[in-house]
Amino acid sequence: MAIQEAPETLDVQSLFPEGTQLIGGEWVAGRGASTLAVENPATGEVLAHVPRSAADDVADAVTAASDAFPAWRDTSPSRRGQLLLDWAALCREHAGEIDLLERLEVGRPKWGPAPMPGILTFTAGLADKATGHTLPSHFPDVIGMTLREPYGVCGSIIPWNAPGPNTVNDAGPAIAMGNTVVIKPAEDAPLTCLLLVKLALEAGIPPGVINVVTGYGPDVGSPLAAHPLVNHMSFTGSPETGRRVMEACASHLIPLHLELGGKSPQVVLRDAPLDKAIPTIARSITLNTGQICAAGSRVVVDSAIRDEVVSGLADRFRQVRVGPWYEDVDMGPLISAKQEQRVLGYLESGRSEGARVVVGGGKPSGFDRGYFVEPTIFDGVSPDMRIAQEEIFGPVLSVLSSGDEEEALRIANGTRYGLVASVWTRDVGKAVRLARRIEAGQVSINTLWSGGVIGAPFGGYKSSGFGRTVSAESILDYTQVKSVIIDGRA
Ligand code: NAD
Repeated sequence: MAIQEAPETLDVQSLFPEGTQLIGGEWVAGRGASTLAVENPATGEVLAHVPRSAADDVADAVTAASDAFPAWRDTSPSRRGQLLLDWAALCREHAGEIDLLERLEVGRPKWGPAPMPGILTFTAGLADKATGHTLPSHFPDVIGMTLREPYGVCGSIIPWNAPGPNTVNDAGPAIAMGNTVVIKPAEDAPLTCLLLVKLALEAGIPPGVINVVTGYGPDVGSPLAAHPLVNHMSFTGSPETGRRVMEACASHLIPLHLELGGKSPQVVLRDAPLDKAIPTIARSITLNTGQICAAGSRVVVDSAIRDEVVSGLADRFRQVRVGPWYEDVDMGPLISAKQEQRVLGYLESGRSEGARVVVGGGKPSGFDRGYFVEPTIFDGVSPDMRIAQEEIFGPVLSVLSSGDEEEALRIANGTRYGLVASVWTRDVGKAVRLARRIEAGQVSINTLWSGGVIGAPFGGYKSSGFGRTVSAESILDYTQVKSVIIDGRA
C-alpha cells in the first residue's frame, strides 16, 4: 500500500516559531543555532525543526527557572492550584490539536480523549493539600511542626512514547508544590511538550516556571542532571539511561524520581475469565505499537489452558489492523528506524533461541514507507530467553507456561523489572495471594493497569525505578520536609 499524506493536517509551523524552544517565557533559538528535524514516523515527512541545544542552553533555562523560583514558591498554593486548573481548561479546549500533534509525532492512531486535562485537574486539587504535622514535645512551652517545602529548580527528562502525559506527570506535581521546572523532551517527539508548555504560559503560569530545552540526551539531559542549580531530577525512560542520570544526580547529591521500563506479566490461571482476559491482553501489547512501559509483554499461562489462550490471542492478533495513524487502524508504526531495528532484532533473537512464531514475526507487506512491524506472538518461550527477560518496546508477546500457582509466581517475578502485573482468575484467594507476592508497583486483578481507578500511584519495583506518579503520593516527591521547633521560653 502506498502511504498517502494525512487527510487531517495541522499547521505545525503556526503553533510556535520554527526552530525555537521555550526559555523564561520566550521562544528562543538554540545558542549553537543548529536544529534537528522531527518526523512523522508513518511517512518520514518532516513536521518541524527544533533547536539542537547544548549545555549553554541548559544553563539559560536553569537560570530562568532559578530566577522564577522565589516568587512562585511564595505564590499561594491555592493560586497555584487555580493556575493548574486554568492550564487544564486550555488543554481541554485545545484537546483536538494536542491529540493530533501527538499522533503526528508518535505515529499512533486515535485512542480516546487525551488524559492531560484530567491529570492536571487531579494535580491542581492537591496543590493546597500537602500539609505537615504538629509534633509532641517534652516541654509545655515548646512546640514543633513539619513544613513541606519545594526543592527549587527541578529537571525533567521524558521519553517519546507518550509525550503529553509524560510532560504533565512531572511538571504538574512539581509546580503544584512551588518548584520551577526545566523539561528535556525526547528528540523524536518534542512538539507536544512545547505546545503544552505554551498553553501553560497562556493560562497565566508565570514565565520561567516551566522551561523546555530540546535536543539529544547526552547534549541536554546530561548537563541538566549535573547542573549545580538543579536540586531535584525526574527521569522517565530506559534503565540504561536512568543509571547515567542517577550517576549525574549522585555527582552533586540530589534526589531522583525514576520511572523506567517493564516486562509486565499477565498471569492467566486455570479459572481465568478468558472472554475478558484474551482481548485485554491483546490490546495491552498492541496499543501504541507496544511502546508503553506498562505493556503486558509476557503471558504466564497455566499449561492446562495454554492452547486455548494461545489460539484466542492469535485470532485477536490477526484482526489487528496495521497502518498509518490517520486511517481506521488499531496499530501504527514504530517511532523510528532505530526502534524498528531493535524490534526486528528481538524477532530474530526469539527465533534463534527456539521460540515458535504463532502469528506475525516480521514487517507487514505492502507498505512502501514507515516503520511498520507485525503484531507478533511467540509460544514455547522459556524464562531465560532474551524475549522473556528484556524489554522489547514493540508489539511482541511472549507466552510462557506454568504448572501451578507457585511456578507462575516464580516466572512472573523472574525478571529484573517490576512495573505492572495483571492476574486473571475467578478465585479471590489466589488473587489476593498473588497480588501480595508479585514484585510490581501495580498489580491488577482481572483488568489492566489502573483499571479506571482514579489516582492509583504508578511506578516501579526493582529495576523499573522508584517514585510514584499520578497520585496523591506524587506531589510529596517534589517536596522536602523541614522540622521547625519553637521554644516559647525565650
Ligand atoms: P531513553 O532512555 O533512550 O530516553 C529517554 C530520555 O532520556 C530521552 O529524552 C533521551 O533524549 C534522554 N537521554 C538519552 N541519553 C541521555 C543521557 N546520557 N543523559 C540524559 N538524558 C539522556 O528511553 P526512550 O527510548 O526514549 O523511552 C523508552 C523507555 O522509556 C522504555 O524503557 C520505557 O519502558 C520507558 N518508559 C517508562 C515509563 C514509566 O512511567 N515507567 C513511561 C514511558 C516510558
